[in-house]
Amino acid sequence: MRILVTGGAGFIGSNFVHHLLDEHEGDEVVVLDALTYAGSRDNLEGALDDPRLEFVEGDVRDRELVSELVADSDVVVNFAAESHVDRSIDGAKPFVSTNVQGTQTLLDAALAEDIDRFVQISTDEVYGQILDGKFSEDDPLNPRNPYAATKASADLLAQSYQTTHDLPVVITRTCNNFGPRQHGEKLIPKFIDKAAAGDSLPVYGDGSNVREWIYVEDNCRAIDRVLRDGEAGEIYNIGSGEERTNLEVTHAILDAVGGSDDQIEFVEDRAGHDQRYALEMGKIEDLGWKPQWSFEDGLEATVDYYR
Ligand code: NAD
Repeated sequence: MRILVTGGAGFIGSNFVHHLLDEHEGDEVVVLDALTYAGSRDNLEGALDDPRLEFVEGDVRDRELVSELVADSDVVVNFAAESHVDRSIDGAKPFVSTNVQGTQTLLDAALAEDIDRFVQISTDEVYGQILDGKFSEDDPLNPRNPYAATKASADLLAQSYQTTHDLPVVITRTCNNFGPRQHGEKLIPKFIDKAAAGDSLPVYGDGSNVREWIYVEDNCRAIDRVLRDGEAGEIYNIGSGEERTNLEVTHAILDAVGGSDDQIEFVEDRAGHDQRYALEMGKIEDLGWKPQWSFEDGLEATVDYYR
């Protein structure tokens, strides 16, 4: 199978490319990535020499390039996105452009080229916050920050191509990922660096916001499962059950790195900060997947990687 992976030089995309090359000898992979501040060829170190990998530096909004690459592929997995919530609060334009128009460009090409499968990588943030219980795939969308709103828009567009044109779309909605190759602006790598340097760790609000954390390798296995065995038109939540408050995550990092609790600094809360996300994951478990990494084991591996 020839797989077009957009955003394959970013955090999750690059881990997914390594996973495909390691696990599926017969697959060929084409990475399309614009190498924004968040993407790097370094993330594909070791894979770039593999004759089964082709790397194309380019933009998912480039209709001509996208058509050419999609025509040459069996399936598309769309990771490419502006992904940092704080940046979307400062300015939403690049988020609308890449996350919505980029997805539309890919969907149009997938339709024209009669692609076998289109996997849209989405997030738990499209559901908004949930104080008790867990979100199921049927729950309504209620995005509460500009990043989440653009991801929800892309989900709706992708679903509409499935309904209207019968394009074989599947959507994955994943909780917070962590692990190797994540950009240093994100919470876990940022706090590992700061903890190790003896700097203060800025915790939003009172640190009580809860996130569900999945080790990136578990997410890559789940996406792979959906790519091969998921049902067209379906949405799959990918959770872990590993819920932690931001303050718990901060303490765990300080413990792992050998920092001091005095390094914790409570700062003004993020605007519109969702209190809690949590996902039901019966559908993805029915495909024969379950998470293999605990938060603690994943954190230990992550700290080892960054240090
Ligand atoms: P990332 O920011 O690390 O990587 C994004 C990649 O997309 C980068 O390599 C960047 O260069 C590339 N890119 C950006 N704009 C592009 C464009 N116009 N054309 C081509 N390439 C472009 O993001 P990530 O954390 O790896 O997230 C990947 C996907 O997973 C995103 O769609 C994100 O919404 C989703 N997601 C992430 C998480 C998480 O915890 N990181 C959780 C749920 C869902």
